[in-house]
Amino acid sequence: MKTNLLNVLSEPELEKLVSRALKLFEQGLCCPVMCQAPRGSRPCGAPEEGIKVASFAIHDGEEPPVSGWNGAGNIFFSGCSAKCLFCQNWPISHNNNGKIYNSGEFSEKIKKLIDKKVHNINFVTGDHFLGKVIESLWKVREAVNLPLIYNCSGCHNHELFEILLKTMDIFLFDVKYCDNTLSSKYSNIQNYTEYNLKCLEMLLEADIPWIEDDLGLLKRGVIIRHLVLPDHIDNSLQVIELLNDFKKRGLNFKLSLMSQYFPAHKALDIEVLNTKVASAQYRKIAEAVEFYEIEGWTQSL
Ligand code: SF4
Repeated sequence: MKTNLLNVLSEPELEKLVSRALKLFEQGLCCPVMCQAPRGSRPCGAPEEGIKVASFAIHDGEEPPVSGWNGAGNIFFSGCSAKCLFCQNWPISHNNNGKIYNSGEFSEKIKKLIDKKVHNINFVTGDHFLGKVIESLWKVREAVNLPLIYNCSGCHNHELFEILLKTMDIFLFDVKYCDNTLSSKYSNIQNYTEYNLKCLEMLLEADIPWIEDDLGLLKRGVIIRHLVLPDHIDNSLQVIELLNDFKKRGLNFKLSLMSQYFPAHKALDIEVLNTKVASAQYRKIAEAVEFYEIEGWTQSL
């Protein structure tokens, strides 16, 4: 039985998607930074050749229908275009730690994860490698018969997001900010809200169903994540209102409200970020989620 979109696509469709994604990378237009920089000097840290990965790991910390009991098969790509100052994975996203794999080696590593009985393959922040990733999986797609997850910042080049909508079964999609002054200050993306809104519209349009199997494992769906930042309660409340609007318009999603912020990396130098989230503030945001009856998970503090 075909359990992911990749195995449903025809060869010509796949060929077209791979070549579009590779071209976006070649041109340096694969994310909203649109660096157009020569290979090897890309601000996101993408290497000249190959796919750079920090780790292929079984991960049990995702939402329950994603991690299940055997864990998600996470692929943590090296480098990132958003480079949030408070990134908790900063050795990977800012310092580009990792090892470069060619296409054959990459797909072998994925097959090894599958052998360990992970429930899915979970790509973490991989816009800069998307073309090469789909190209690698294409060659072994019958063996990769698990849901493919895209775990992302929520801020993408629209053409790249179209490709993702055709190839990924599950989205773990961030809504970080409702205010571009914050995205400019804390992340490397000036117009986060415009890109994020457009991607939300595209998710709505794609009408992705929520499908779990009999054992409660997610096969298809959208999980929207919001990490609450300390002392930015207005931003978080605006995010919840925005999500309520999308819910009313028919976007089928579950919300994962996250309290796991801790000051890391460059956030240690920024007074307002160099603290934890206050419980009274977090409660207010969690109450807004309850008030709007948005389904999902609220992490405890
Ligand atoms: S993902 Fe990297 S290579 Fe692509 S446009 Fe952004 S910064 Fe440039």
